Amino acid sequence: MFELFYHPIYTDGIDEKSRFPRQRYKLTKDALDGSKARIRFVRPEMIKIEHIYVAHERNYVDSFINGILTEKEKRKIGLQPWNEKIIDRTRYIMGGSLGALNSAIHSNGISGNMAGGTHHAHYSYGSGYCIFNDLAICAKTALNSYKHIDDVLIIDLDVHQGDGTASIFSDHDNVFTFSMHCESNFPLQKMESDIDVPLKKGVEDIEYLDMLQCNLDRLSEVRSDVIFYQAGVDVLNSDGLGHLMLTQEGLKIRNQMVLDFAKQRNSPLVIFMGGGYSKPIHDTVNAFVDLFEQCAKY
Ligand SMILES: [Zn+2]
Repeated sequence: MFELFYHPIYTDGIDEKSRFPRQRYKLTKDALDGSKARIRFVRPEMIKIEHIYVAHERNYVDSFINGILTEKEKRKIGLQPWNEKIIDRTRYIMGGSLGALNSAIHSNGISGNMAGGTHHAHYSYGSGYCIFNDLAICAKTALNSYKHIDDVLIIDLDVHQGDGTASIFSDHDNVFTFSMHCESNFPLQKMESDIDVPLKKGVEDIEYLDMLQCNLDRLSEVRSDVIFYQAGVDVLNSDGLGHLMLTQEGLKIRNQMVLDFAKQRNSPLVIFMGGGYSKPIHDTVNAFVDLFEQCAKY
């Protein structure tokens, strides 16, 4: 059974006046409740503060948790205006990702978080809707807490580059970062992943999927004991922030290629939700529903 970590605070923890499409979590959950997919929803625990320190500067973590980030630091993150639940929300999302990590490793299978994939968060600051980097926290935790995990592979297919993850692991040999994204998108200043594949604006299904296949072939040479998939759906043609032109069908093929890649390696696989800003919001929701239904068949 595919365990998917979810908490209503994923939506409620963002202020309704924020421009961020906070309803996507609730709508995706509602749609999955009505689906026949074999998914067990699990309510995450709040991450302990010391578990955030494994990937972030203490000072930054403490400032956020104590609600004393500067206006400038908050503006760089976005999601504003912040309501009183933003701190708990962040801790539940990080806890959801850690829960998915533990579930995937213990079952030697697949598990996911219905939020997270916060790849723009850097060691000492947040950015682009990302406060702490759950991919980084999970990678560090996997290496520190599991004797048989020596190498982590991060496959980031969100339309935006995984700059925070790349910078946090720039000098780590045992975390391999792969990011395929649109080059003319946020962040303006890209960081260096182990493999970056910057795509031109307007790339469509066939070119995208060919490029992904070439790179999955390259990744098959990379050692890993657990795989993380940042499965952002902001590559969709109707997305308001991305500049790629994938169809919903193309996106399903993309997901299946990554799932098959991990399956062939008999690897535990952790799914992180990532971006999605389509108008109408239902395009984003449908794409996430597809993703999680595909995961349930892993
Ligand atoms: Zn994104």
